[in-house]
Amino acid sequence: MTESSALEAATTFAELDLAPEILLALEDLGYRAPTPIQKQAIPLVLAGRDLLAQAQTGTGKTAAFALPLLQRMKSYANTSTSPARHPVRALVLAPTRELAIQVYESVVGYSKYLSLRSTVVYGGVGMDTQEAQLRAGVEVLVATPGRLLDHAGNRTLALSQVQYLVLDEADRMLDMGFLPDLKRILNLLPRERQTLLFSATFDDPITRLAQSFLKDPLKVEVARRNTAAETVEQLVHRVKEDEKTEALVRVVKARGLAQALVFTRTKISADRLGRQLLKRGLRASVIHGDKAQSERLQALEGFKQGQAQLLVATDIAARGLDIVELPCVINYELPYSPEDYVHRIGRTGRAGAEGVAVSLVAPDEEKLLAGIEHFIHRSLAVTPLPELPGPPAAPARAAAEARRIPGPPGRRRAQPVCALLLPPASPQGPNEPR
Ligand code: AMP
Repeated sequence: MTESSALEAATTFAELDLAPEILLALEDLGYRAPTPIQKQAIPLVLAGRDLLAQAQTGTGKTAAFALPLLQRMKSYANTSTSPARHPVRALVLAPTRELAIQVYESVVGYSKYLSLRSTVVYGGVGMDTQEAQLRAGVEVLVATPGRLLDHAGNRTLALSQVQYLVLDEADRMLDMGFLPDLKRILNLLPRERQTLLFSATFDDPITRLAQSFLKDPLKVEVARRNTAAETVEQLVHRVKEDEKTEALVRVVKARGLAQALVFTRTKISADRLGRQLLKRGLRASVIHGDKAQSERLQALEGFKQGQAQLLVATDIAARGLDIVELPCVINYELPYSPEDYVHRIGRTGRAGAEGVAVSLVAPDEEKLLAGIEHFIHRSLAVTPLPELPGPPAAPARAAAEARRIPGPPGRRRAQPVCALLLPPASPQGPNEPR
């Protein structure tokens, strides 16, 4: 496996030699500059290389594979109505229906000015509409593994012309037990193809998968598992256990937070905190693995619409939530696992926007804090709780504004724009600590 780094010279999408149709679509989407994973991956994919990429959701990984693949398929773009002129050329596999939809929507946006068709297939819904779309022909197919095999078994789908395969969130696909399905799918694809594997982690199972699926891949990494996002400011407030809720309210008010994601360690404390916040007049909703799917959906939707100011979540319930550009994550309780800390703070500071992660640390959590600092190779700044803003006179508001997230001039500040996706209800949900 060859290591690749220092491929980040390009500062604009145009410098990455993307086609005018793609540049135009990116302009429409408001993408100004490529993210680090895009800078690294796009030239390699354009050069036809297999890729083993370590990048989490939120780094811009979808565009990192979709843009160069669309560009490579551009010569096949056509407006013919004949299905034969639209064989599946790129297959993107994703672990969940939510991720599949998100990837598909991104592909639609990126290919707006290209005559290339795309669709998405996933389980839990009828086959008919999907079948009709497949029969009409699509160049880019985004799919969850099980449903893809269903269609392949029904012969509504031919995969013999697939030239590009993307395994998105490969680590989650393995966690969810998709390895046998992936192997079956692989057997349906031509041997001559370009394969791109994206994973948040590079552990042994992923390395083994890469060895059997990829050909002489180049490795790109943007955010190591144990390096917290650089754009996230991380702060610790030391507080007594029984003063945490007051401290949380104070952080929210003093920082003038329109929205924040609040993490607890257990379902019980998530529920308790939700009740306490409501009593204090804050619009909070709670998600954890014991909540019914409909309740979780409602909570997420409410947060997305801005009806809830705070979303209280456990680690497992928050997995797979794509909350774009959330300005602040608050650790009401530190997680037992330092890796969960990195996952949590990865919910803010996405795609180059800055964010802040505040941890409320009680005396009996000092060990957990030390473990996190060891894991991320840096110590976290301990600061006093922020002062509450005074009466809403103009000078006080200005002072409050000055106290908010500091950052270098010219950097984008994260706005609470949320794209919320439901994480899988099982199998992880019921295993959460109570
Ligand atoms: P992803 O990691 O692919 O899930 O992307 C996370 C979010 O960042 C999505 O909402 C993308 O639309 C957005 N995004 C991706 N690349 C860029 C970029 N270069 N500039 C601005 N936003 C981006």
